[in-house]
Amino acid sequence: MLSVAEAQHAILKLVTRAKSMRLPVTGAQGLALAGDITSTIDSPPYDKALMDGFAVLAADLEAAAREGAECSLIVQEEIMAGHVPRLPLAVGCAARIMTGAPLPEGTDAVVMLEESEPGPQRKGMPTVQLRPAAFRAGQNLLRRGAAMKRGETVLSAGQTLTPAAIGLLAELGMADVAIIAPPQVAILSTGDELVPFAAEPGAGQLRNSNGPMLAAQIRDTLAAPQELGIARDNEDELRSAIEHGLQSDILLLSGGVSAGDLDLVPGVLKSLGVRQVFHKVHLKPGKPLWFGVLESTEDNAAAETLVFGLPGNPVSSFVCFELFVRPAIRKLMGRAHVHRGTRMLPLAAAHTHRGGRPVYLPAKIETTEAGACVHLLAWQGSADLRRLAEANALAQLPAEAGTYAVGDLVTVMPLTAE
Ligand code: AMP
Ligand code: MG
Repeated sequence: MLSVAEAQHAILKLVTRAKSMRLPVTGAQGLALAGDITSTIDSPPYDKALMDGFAVLAADLEAAAREGAECSLIVQEEIMAGHVPRLPLAVGCAARIMTGAPLPEGTDAVVMLEESEPGPQRKGMPTVQLRPAAFRAGQNLLRRGAAMKRGETVLSAGQTLTPAAIGLLAELGMADVAIIAPPQVAILSTGDELVPFAAEPGAGQLRNSNGPMLAAQIRDTLAAPQELGIARDNEDELRSAIEHGLQSDILLLSGGVSAGDLDLVPGVLKSLGVRQVFHKVHLKPGKPLWFGVLESTEDNAAAETLVFGLPGNPVSSFVCFELFVRPAIRKLMGRAHVHRGTRMLPLAAAHTHRGGRPVYLPAKIETTEAGACVHLLAWQGSADLRRLAEANALAQLPAEAGTYAVGDLVTVMPLTAE
């Protein structure tokens, strides 16, 4: 039986294809860029003031400083944000300027408004007295192109579109952008005992909770879920529902992959030409996991489909999604880091592990002023969604049996972080 790492490796080896598509920038949040982005503009687009104050020539200020005198300058014009200067800056003159406004030609620096005082009129023109505390040519202004020059690569292929990156694309005037397309992921829940979650289960029946849960896990990765509903445990119904699901990039089946008489999924998949890559993984919960691939054939232009047969118990389905499906989706979406990260955290309470298989336990990380610790939740087996819904992490214990004391470090996989 494959280990978790071997199974993950076998899956990721088969994930090679990444499709790109163009999307409106506003709809591309969190997706990865399909190519580099080259700037088409200089930013800022003109030399601009970073402070409210006066645009000046350095020579005027330096001459006044040498003589130990205040610098008195004629105010030749006022430039508001959104307006353009009418004149180049003349010797002995300043221009009143607002933050962000374009500087008149020749400006060497901006003196803050707080370091100025209005002076007496000269030749019918207003004047200003400047007393900068420490003057330096180049102060309080930004030159055209200082942040970004036309032709520079400003975002790289594979980078994800954060809110700031979306702002940058808007600054470049881009309406749409090429991104790596999120895969279409179909979900088929199987089992004679299942009813749609909105229905009232009869005797011996259960609501289909896996369908909505898996759809939510898929949405969390930004891929597109498509729920195909419930198929009964008979070959004909399974075959036609699975055939439909094989049109997606990924097909998730829940249930029907254990060793029972009605676990028909592996047989039906094989009869439809889906090649089994592995069946069963050494872990708990989730051991019956089945994985295969429908390879594209020459006369069938459809791209290949990755097929996951997830065990039907809800916690098993959840854990298998996190460990095996999510990394495949993330690789298809061009992510550099496909696996969830782990941390070593001290146990909040003693625990006895019976061993046998590596386990992934619903757990809760608690962060206090003293630091973080992890609680193993008292789950009642792989159908216990109630405890799973309390968890914010999965704690991993190895196959070996062992007794753990309070404070012993265990590996924990937070379910919230990347
Ligand atoms: P299976 O893997 O088909 O043997 O299913 C194992 C158990 O998981 C079943 O007996 C049900 O209790 C449960 N189960 C299967 N499918 C679902 C589902 N879609 N939603 C909730 N529970 C399920
Ligand atoms: Mg079943």
